[in-house]
Amino acid sequence: MMNTWFSELQTRHVSLGLKIEDVLWHEQTAYQELAVLQTEAYGRMLVLDGAIQTTIVDEFVYHEMITHVPLLFHPHPRKVAVIGGGDGGAIREILKHPGIEEAHLIEIDEKVVEASRRFLPEIAEGLEDDRAHVHFTDGIAWVKEARDFDVIMVDSTDPVGPAEGLFVPEFYQSIYEALGSDGIMVAQSESPFLEPEIIQRVMAGVSKAFPVTRLYLANVPTYPSGLWSFTMGSKNTLKSPRNVSLTTRYWTPEIQRNCFDLPRFVEDLIR
Ligand code: SAM
Repeated sequence: MMNTWFSELQTRHVSLGLKIEDVLWHEQTAYQELAVLQTEAYGRMLVLDGAIQTTIVDEFVYHEMITHVPLLFHPHPRKVAVIGGGDGGAIREILKHPGIEEAHLIEIDEKVVEASRRFLPEIAEGLEDDRAHVHFTDGIAWVKEARDFDVIMVDSTDPVGPAEGLFVPEFYQSIYEALGSDGIMVAQSESPFLEPEIIQRVMAGVSKAFPVTRLYLANVPTYPSGLWSFTMGSKNTLKSPRNVSLTTRYWTPEIQRNCFDLPRFVEDLIR
């Protein structure tokens, strides 16, 4: 019986260890070190440059929350884009919304999509839908040319390497210009326990471009500290979320209605 552990160094002082049953795939791509590992506790897991991206057991939390929350604040989302997100989980969730006509994925690293299609088919399945369009290019350049999107989601890796430019004010300004008049954006913005300054940086950057900015949280056990944040920017004042029936495992209409209720220390962080 193998006794092998994968450990992600989440900060210089914190790591998360998971017992591994098998290494399903491992390669150095043009952009990053990619691995798909079979874990005991969380099933198959995608790792990029040593950082856990998604696991079969807890992926639903992140993918439901990065998509349904902004989509339901938009009056009629039809054309949507995900920047990063090569595992395809965000696209799968977007396509649950009846009015969606086009869901674009802008992923810099073709190998992430290839590995996800092969080893994480239950996450990547949405990419096979006729409404899904996959573009292998840098999201920073792509967004400068994009126009008339209803919702844009930034489903990125941490702000190092190719994702660094996905955390700067100029990028949020380009997203603003790529959105139509009711446009909404959301970006994953790391952990309030371990990366509070990233939340503050994303908040400041998004509010430079968008008149309305809000933060919400979700519990993702395999991400650093387990408590994860999402920063939303909107061109208009947010009205009550639309009522749509969705088959989900984390998201509920009640979570949606109360998503901006934050713990005191997080409120203080973004004040
Ligand atoms: N949900 C995950 C998390 O928070 O850890 C992230 C999922 S997804 C796998 C992140 C993707 O962003 C990676 O596949 C990476 O290749 C992609 N990415 C990083 N920088 C990018 C860029 N500039 N343009 C497009 N995609 C980028």
